[in-house]
Amino acid sequence: MRSVAGAVTVLQDLIAAYPPSMVPCRGRDSGLWFSGHAGEQRTAMALCGSCPVMVRCRDTARAIHAGYGVWGGENAGQRRKAGYASVKT
Ligand code: SF4
Repeated sequence: MRSVAGAVTVLQDLIAAYPPSMVPCRGRDSGLWFSGHAGEQRTAMALCGSCPVMVRCRDTARAIHAGYGVWGGENAGQRRKAGYASVKT
């Protein structure tokens, strides 16, 4: 099993392989992806829809039980509903 840091590093390397203009959360206000505001989360989720690493990003967030943030078009509440409960620290 890969560590949390290892899984995130693999995802970051994958993201870095694409031009920033293809990855919506790069070069934008990343606060949109970590907002507690439902409307902003919906905007971020919609933007993820055009990202070439969306599925890998979502799967990474699920694997590491990310407790916050929009990853791969999914917010923390959706991950919890899908059975990927966040780990309490
Ligand atoms: S899927 Fe969304 S959060 Fe993940 S890298 Fe792409 S734009 Fe960023």
